[in-house]
Amino acid sequence: MKLILAQPRGFCAGVVRAIDIVERALAKHEAPVYVRHEIVHNRYVVENLKAKGARFVEELADVPAGATTIFSAHGVSRAVEADAASRRLNVLDATCPLVTKVHNQGQRYSDLGRTVILIGHAGHVEVEGTLGRISGPVHLVEDRDDVERLDLADDTPIAYVTQTTLSVDDTRATIEAIKGRFSDVIGPETRDICYATQNRQTAVRKLCQHVELLLVVGAANSSNSNRLREIGAECGIPSYLVADGRDIDSEWLAGKHTIGITAGASAPDVLVDDVIAALAKLEPIEIEALQGIEEKITFRLPPELLEVS
Ligand code: SF4
Repeated sequence: MKLILAQPRGFCAGVVRAIDIVERALAKHEAPVYVRHEIVHNRYVVENLKAKGARFVEELADVPAGATTIFSAHGVSRAVEADAASRRLNVLDATCPLVTKVHNQGQRYSDLGRTVILIGHAGHVEVEGTLGRISGPVHLVEDRDDVERLDLADDTPIAYVTQTTLSVDDTRATIEAIKGRFSDVIGPETRDICYATQNRQTAVRKLCQHVELLLVVGAANSSNSNRLREIGAECGIPSYLVADGRDIDSEWLAGKHTIGITAGASAPDVLVDDVIAALAKLEPIEIEALQGIEEKITFRLPPELLEVS
């Protein structure tokens, strides 16, 4: 069985920074350190940090007054920020700088007097954060049908922003629907939104030209991992999301000789290795890495953690 690995795959700079912030906070402050929401959407990462003394909460009400509290990579609303201040929490913000860029862009559009349309998935924590960062009118749409249903005059000045981890192609279709319906629309170039989302999606499309089956290593609640699986399916390749090697069903492999493997931006290499090891138990394997973009992007840590190692 030949395994072909997508390049790039796995951790992005925003995830590396978020995990680094929790680890450095644990080194600097006494455990426990509190983290609002899963720091990144991966159970293995969360359990690993729990074992080191991180406590994960969904509500700030569960954090003792004054405790060190980290906001996850997905970002938070202004209301959550204000709540943290009123509880006198010592906040470290692990919001990915690219999510912050979307927040800032949305607010700038709002300040220009435009109604903002956020393209994203209802209920996703990043979407809730972004909706809660824009002070003026803002509407969430998931797809073209939602655009048609918006209760707005067609000459309303509109600006759109998007969730960072959406399929670039799906976003394009929704943006076309917005531009088709409204007469005055501005927005950013979608390929600039998140380099990691763009690169992983491009790599998976390339990988699908060479494989008979696609395995995406990632968590069920990871938006970008789900998008990678969907792209595989759109390319006509049977595609499955697996948290680790235990999720592999040997029936998927029947008659397949070339298997593609990629990983979502929140999935660590150790889980990719686990998937490879599980496949190697079923059949002899050879591994090839597809040529692709080498990512060199890193994001700066909060200044108070720079001296901690
Ligand atoms: Fe940031 Fe993109 Fe990674 Fe999300 S996927 S954490 S936006 S770099």
